[in-house]
Amino acid sequence: MTTRKRVCVVGAGVSGLAAANAFARHGHEPTVYERAADLGGVWEPSRSYPGIKTQSPKDLYCYTSRPMPTGYAEWPSGREVYEYLRGFAEENGLMAHISFGRSVVRAERREGGGWEVRTRCRNGGEATSSFDALVVASGTFNEKNSPRHPGQEDFETNGGRVLHSSEYTDPAMVADKDVVVLGFSKSATDVAVSAAKAGARSVAIVYREPVWRIPYRFAERINFKHILYCRASEAMFPGWNTGGAGRVAYALAKPAIWANWRALETLLDRQFGLTKLGMRPSVPIEDAISCGLPIATEGFYEMLHAGRITAHRGTFEHYEPGTVVLTGGERLAIDVAIQATGWTLGVSYLPRDVLDTIREADGQYRLHRLAASPDVPDLGFVGFNSSFATVLTSEISAEWLVRYMDGTLARQPTPEAMNAAIDAHLAWRRRVRPAAQVYGGLCSAPYHFRYLDELLADIGCRERRGGILAETFLPPSAAAYGRYLASAPAYRAA
Ligand SMILES: Cc1cc2nc3c(=O)[nH]c(=O)nc-3n(C[C@H](O)[C@H](O)[C@H](O)COP(=O)(O)OP(=O)(O)OC[C@H]3O[C@@H](n4cnc5c(N)ncnc54)[C@H](O)[C@@H]3O)c2cc1C
Repeated sequence: MTTRKRVCVVGAGVSGLAAANAFARHGHEPTVYERAADLGGVWEPSRSYPGIKTQSPKDLYCYTSRPMPTGYAEWPSGREVYEYLRGFAEENGLMAHISFGRSVVRAERREGGGWEVRTRCRNGGEATSSFDALVVASGTFNEKNSPRHPGQEDFETNGGRVLHSSEYTDPAMVADKDVVVLGFSKSATDVAVSAAKAGARSVAIVYREPVWRIPYRFAERINFKHILYCRASEAMFPGWNTGGAGRVAYALAKPAIWANWRALETLLDRQFGLTKLGMRPSVPIEDAISCGLPIATEGFYEMLHAGRITAHRGTFEHYEPGTVVLTGGERLAIDVAIQATGWTLGVSYLPRDVLDTIREADGQYRLHRLAASPDVPDLGFVGFNSSFATVLTSEISAEWLVRYMDGTLARQPTPEAMNAAIDAHLAWRRRVRPAAQVYGGLCSAPYHFRYLDELLADIGCRERRGGILAETFLPPSAAAYGRYLASAPAYRAA
């Protein structure tokens, strides 16, 4: 038996809902503060651009207890994901725990443990409440990154418009306009394709470097989940905590692995016509596969080949009325700039001393299992383990976190053991896998199985794997992870 805790959860996106559900299920009292008027986070309809859909296939983007409806497309639309999340919250009684329109502006640690959390509502009113634990689920796509360029004010005064990609919510905003999209992420190509379909007069995309993109279907047929989401493909990346035998096996297989990646590059080049477009990346694809790896927006490369979208290397240098000038001197006609320049991970409500404890000088986070700090035991993170199957990784890490905070993990780590594991993990990222340093190192892709194996083993799940063939060659199944969790020792807080 553990003590019933009052837990503050920041954010009601995928991860905040997973956290609230895990803590409520285990007898605690979660209060979720959500600054928006609705739940869903990046899937909340007022934040979504037209045509938004998941990168993950639907059976990899769901909670263990609730499959996505059979009527949904293989890659559900933003609206469908939002409705799915709302259904999950209602089904599990989470709505009563959520306080909407309330931003967490400050969290102070109490002497002896626990938190004083200050929130602000939309009319400016503030309130402070006390909690035993704080769960950060405010997302890694949290604060808009909206760079300003010289001449922007003059450009806007003369009728030009500058939007962040999340502010482009209606195709009417770009109809009959000259549109320039800045950036080359999935959002950038989604927005460019959407604008072209919406009847923009011209659509240009401005980017620094070509990047590898994965198609929804390889060779137009094979769902990418069958190629990139299984233990067999995960084994082609050097992992952490690999013993001597594993390292020898990896070294022996290296030439075959190398040939496999080159074959994949050739396939992608052919499928998208990258060389013809002058867009074949120079970085080896295996070094690029991490949380930032985008899926190719359907129609994007076809529109480039057809000239419906034009692509320009560089970035914005400055604006003039009706024109944007690029760093290479190129001038583009422009009415609307859409900056698909991403988001920053904002946890500014945490105290400075806590931030200094959980983050190293180079920005890498010191979180055990990407969820907990050994030095601040009443602070947890859910969703700071970005993956290609975030709903599942958030749910399992929330289930890990509640047990960690209750001290009921089967492998409950000591602070010393956590620090040693963090040091080893950081050393591995820096030396072996620099790509794993994206998002402050808060990325579990492409090591979904390895990462989830560790969480399940810590939790004490007796069942952790399916049959050998399925386990080696099939993508993770959310329902199976539900069974694995159910095989963990049961407990309930007092
Ligand atoms: C366009 C797009 C497509 C994506 N597609 C996929 C995909 O297919 N597969 C995949 O695995 N991932 C995908 N992702 C990644 C996505 O971020 C995660 O899948 C997941 O939705 C993140 O959920 P979250 O709850 O961790 O964060 P968020 O969705 O960002 O939710 C955080 C919530 O916290 C709230 N909040 C923030 N700060 C505060 C504060 N101070 N006080 C109160 N509330 C606060 C925010 O308003 C927000 O509602 C995609 C992301 C984007 C942007």
